[in-house]
Parts: sequence; structure tokens; C-alpha cells
Amino acid sequence: MGSMDAARAMTGFFDAPVRGKNLDDLRRANLSTALGLIHAAGSISRADLTRSMGLNRSTIATIVADLEARDLIVVGEARDTKRIGRPSLEISTSVRHVVIAVNPELDATTLGIVAMGGRVLREVRMEHERPPTAREVVNSVRALVAGMQPELGERHVVIGVALAVPGLVSAVDGSVRLAPHLGWVDEPISAMLADALGVPAWAANDASCGVVAEVLFGAGTGSGNVVFLNGGASGIGGGIVAEARLIQGRGGFGGEIGHTLVRTDGAACRCGSQGCLEAEVTRRALLEAVDLGVERSHELEALLAEAYVDRDDVRALLDAQLASLAVALRTIINTLNPEVVVLGGFLEILGRIGGERLERMLRADALPGPAEQVRLQGARLGRMSLLIGAAELAFRPFLSDPIAVPVAAGRASLADLG
Ligand SMILES: [Zn+2]
Repeated sequence: MGSMDAARAMTGFFDAPVRGKNLDDLRRANLSTALGLIHAAGSISRADLTRSMGLNRSTIATIVADLEARDLIVVGEARDTKRIGRPSLEISTSVRHVVIAVNPELDATTLGIVAMGGRVLREVRMEHERPPTAREVVNSVRALVAGMQPELGERHVVIGVALAVPGLVSAVDGSVRLAPHLGWVDEPISAMLADALGVPAWAANDASCGVVAEVLFGAGTGSGNVVFLNGGASGIGGGIVAEARLIQGRGGFGGEIGHTLVRTDGAACRCGSQGCLEAEVTRRALLEAVDLGVERSHELEALLAEAYVDRDDVRALLDAQLASLAVALRTIINTLNPEVVVLGGFLEILGRIGGERLERMLRADALPGPAEQVRLQGARLGRMSLLIGAAELAFRPFLSDPIAVPVAAGRASLADLG
């Protein structure tokens, strides 16, 4: 599958795209496909768009004009001036429509203003001493958005708010069934946010958001078989894309690789079980090993890399964590035969320091076919992946049916807020 085909397949992540029956349906389907391609590419020449869609130039011109009139794209000068002949126009996603993406975590809540094309226009981080309640998250988001209102209202239309939650999120109504580290049980967080902000709200598991973002815009681009493992302050999240589909399972709770068993006599896990990957492989243990407080966690990699060489106790700890990670990865690789395993957060640090050791263990322990076909990669979008993936939840109605997007919308205005 070429990267364009992969991008096209990916735009249907959380929902099926519209299919053409009559002329109007066909127009909607063409607009959806074109916008999906531009969204995935961020920026694409009109010539490339024409080639990818296999339509004639005048049809493409009509589609582009239509999307431009809806403020969904911006058409500008050609990027490539070296080409012979008339330069093609360059088409980019517009920043007019934005999503407020939120990622509540143990130590901080991050809020991002995200535009199409995976562009984070602004990021605000609110530190907290203890895990926030759902109500506190809603109140802080409301206050922050109210503070940004003059700027937001002038330049952007907020189409929705989307949460990446470290826990089990219902695919039906976006409520949180369980977020053990935040201490949330049955919190209707999407409904609460929609009420507070007056815009549609969505929520999904954080690593599911992460895998969607990495496949669309990051380390998994061009592949339909990607597993994302994110090491956060509150444990390890997992997101699975198999055969170009996000695997969510019956209720949206699938992909919890953090709770896969790696040691039968292992440490107690917050989920109530024991020996789970996230109970054995923790950021806290790594921070403690190099006497680092949470507030200086950005120094973790440099200190660990040094201590891995100089200190036996730190090397033993890291090697034990790498071995546990290898057990979990072996199960994933043998079960799903992924092309790319993306490691994010502190797992990316583990991978960079002990990557060779990790790969050696995988080659020795996983089945030969799947082991040969997989590659380990660091998350290319860094901590932005969760925000970008969450925003994708809200952009999906745009992508599946751009005609339904209100022209110069009023529906999603936040003007009354604050
Ligand atoms: Zn567990």
C-alpha cells in the first residue's frame, strides 16, 4: 500500500466515510476523499492531489474551490519551483476550524488548540499537586478557553472539545468507565464538557488517540499495522491499528497493553491484578533510581544514559524493565504481526538507551516471521500525539462529510463563554 492509499484508508479511523450513490453523494464522497488527503498530507500540490484521486483536472478544480469556499483549505503558491512547466498550486489545510484537545494526567493537564493537518497551534500545561477530579478538569478547561476567547473568537471556529484520557473510555458516549490513576470511576466527562463549553465533546483512551496520530502524521505514516505504547506518568497505554483500523473492541476498551501479564509473581497493579506491564515498568522507578523529582523529569534521559554505564544498580533496573517490556512486545508481535511498534513517553527513553538489547531479546523470543517484519520506532510527534489524536475525534465529521460543515459557523461559537 502506497503512503497516499494508506492516508486515504486512515481518514476513516473512527468512522466509515460516505459512499457515493447519486450525484450529490458522489460530490460529498469526492470532497471527503480530497479533504482527507489534504488533511493527512498537511500540504499537497494540486497535481499530486489530482494524481492521487484519479479524477480530471476540472473536477479537481471544482472540488478545491468548494473546499476553499468552506474555509477548510487554503490554496497558495507552488512550493516546488524547480519543476518544468506551469507550477502547480499548493493546497494546505486551513486553521479556521480548531478543536480544543485536552489530556488530563496525574501531574498536569495539557490543553491544545489543534487545527486540521495535525497542527497544534497552541499548547498550555497546567501543573497540579494531586490528580484532578473530572469536575476540576472541566472547570480548568472552561476557564482557560474563556481566557483565550478574544483570540479564539476572531481567528477560529471551535468545532468541539476532545479528550485523551489515561483509562477506559466508552466508545458509545465518551464517558470514562475507569481511569485508575486519576481515581475516576464512571465519569460522564464528555457530557460535562459539552455542557460547560456549549460545543460537541468527545473522549477516547489516550494511547488510542496516540496511535491514530502517529499513523496519520508520525512514525507510523504509510502503514496500516501499527502498535503504540505510551509510557506516561500514570502508567502505560496501548493503542492498536490493525489492517488500517483502530482496534477498540466491543465497548471501546480494547488495546490495554499496559495490563498484559509480564510476571506471574510480579508487583501489584492499580487495576487490582498483579504482574502487569505497567506495574513492572514504571517511570517512577526510573526517576527514583537517579534521584530525580517529577518536576525535573525532562532530565531523566540524560541522567539515565550516564548511570546505565556507570552504575550497576541502575543498569540492573533498566535491564529488568527492558526484559519486561520485551515480554509484552513478544506477545504483541506474535499476536498482531505489526509493521511498526511506536514507543512514546518514558518508553521511548528506555528504547533509546537499551534499544539494541531490546531488539536482540525480541529477535530471540518472538516468532521468526513477525519478528523479522517489525521495526521499533520512537514516537515522532512526542507528547503532541495525544492531543493531535484526540482532535481527530472531532474532525471526523468534517472529513467524512465536508458539506455538513457550517459555512462561517455559528453553532460552535464560544462567544458567550466566560
Ligand atoms: Zn494492571
